Amino acid sequence: GTALVPIADAPQSGKDFTSDQEVRWCPGCGDYAVLKAVQGFLPGLGLRRENIVFVSGIGCSSRFPYYLDTYGMHSIHGRAPAIATGIATAREDLSVWVVTGDGDALSIGGNHLIHVLRRNVNMTILLFNNRIYGLTKGQYSPTSETGKITKSTPAGSVDHPFNPVSLALGAEGTFVARTVDSDRKHLTSVLSAAAAHRGTSLVEIYQNCPIFNDGAYGVLKDRDSAADAIIPLVHGEPVRFGAPAEDGQGRLGVFRRPTGEVHVDHVTPANRERIVVHNAHADDPTVAFALSRLTASGEITRA
Ligand code: SF4
Ligand code: MG
Repeated sequence: GTALVPIADAPQSGKDFTSDQEVRWCPGCGDYAVLKAVQGFLPGLGLRRENIVFVSGIGCSSRFPYYLDTYGMHSIHGRAPAIATGIATAREDLSVWVVTGDGDALSIGGNHLIHVLRRNVNMTILLFNNRIYGLTKGQYSPTSETGKITKSTPAGSVDHPFNPVSLALGAEGTFVARTVDSDRKHLTSVLSAAAAHRGTSLVEIYQNCPIFNDGAYGVLKDRDSAADAIIPLVHGEPVRFGAPAEDGQGRLGVFRRPTGEVHVDHVTPANRERIVVHNAHADDPTVAFALSRLTASGEITRA
């Protein structure tokens, strides 16, 4: 999320946020629709391109930063939230976004994801969930359904999937939502609410992978409109899962957003020194790394 002040001469159209890079996703990939929606949404922030940064991890969706004419970093597997923590902490004048997938965020980067959520660092995380490892050609992921047959699980997966929304709620995420690639209106409205939130916003995006997991969110594909599944939920209400999906998937909307004051993100420039010391000994070495680079560049005077 961002609390940055819009400026008058900000880019006006999605074209202004489109880079000159050739988009290299498979034909029909849901990522195209998300990219278009994000490019169309970004002018609404009212910020200069150089004040926006997208950090990704590894996976199909992590090619995202190449295609945006903003600052960006295609970083390391699962560690985008940690890199983004360093950026958001050093530069409060930036709108910081993370692009990640179900494997990147929930398996390789599971630890980083839960800790960025509890720290409530000011950023928006877009978690593309196609319930498969697409880039490495179709292994089952932490969100694949039990019994999923893939090249790595020819007899069917025995694992129970994560529900990213309930995981984020359990990690005390302050803004948690789910949307879908094929409903641009809903996607844009969720992006807008997420960006307006000060703190960590987690947006799960159901994303189809026509190559390795076509119908990744089949429960919605069967409907005339994904809008049927949208339920607005607010902070403090119980999370309502259940029908139509058996595994708790299938509902769209904002599951938690603050109705009043939330705890202020404690990772701020004012306490960067303490963060470096803390993390050097504790749970998140990549944050320590990101911040130690800032130390080396003189951003932090002592560590
Ligand atoms: Fe998209 Fe799947 Fe192709 Fe990856 S493998 S680019 S997720 S269609
Ligand atoms: Mg995936």
